[in-house]
Amino acid sequence: MADSLCPCGSKKLKNACCELISSGKREATTAEELMRSRYTAFTKADGAYLMKSHHPETRPVKDRKAIENWAKSVQWMGLVILGKQAGEASDSSGHVEFRALYLERGEMHQIHENSLFRKQGEKWYYHSGVHL
Ligand SMILES: [Zn+2]
Repeated sequence: MADSLCPCGSKKLKNACCELISSGKREATTAEELMRSRYTAFTKADGAYLMKSHHPETRPVKDRKAIENWAKSVQWMGLVILGKQAGEASDSSGHVEFRALYLERGEMHQIHENSLFRKQGEKWYYHSGVHL
């Protein structure tokens, strides 16, 4: 069934992809995996996971509700990974450039961002991003 595919576009089943990471069954091994799991969390307006996966240095705790409300108000249309720099299992930081598409009030919009991911301990976190 198409609707059991993971929203991140990996073509894997949901429960074999981002859900494993957001539920804490396993850690993201690469920055890209963490990035995908955060996109999927946006499609579910999962503010708790968006906070947890955000680096403590830059975590926007007071914006959580606004982020959830906004994520819920739009229709998520897909994720495209455009490029990567480091962010592999053996790295301690990395960049992922992506495009996330969504419909807001009937119009297609995109977030085109180059995101910085940093590892703390053995865990990857989203640190910050530059909009392109
Ligand atoms: Zn996924």
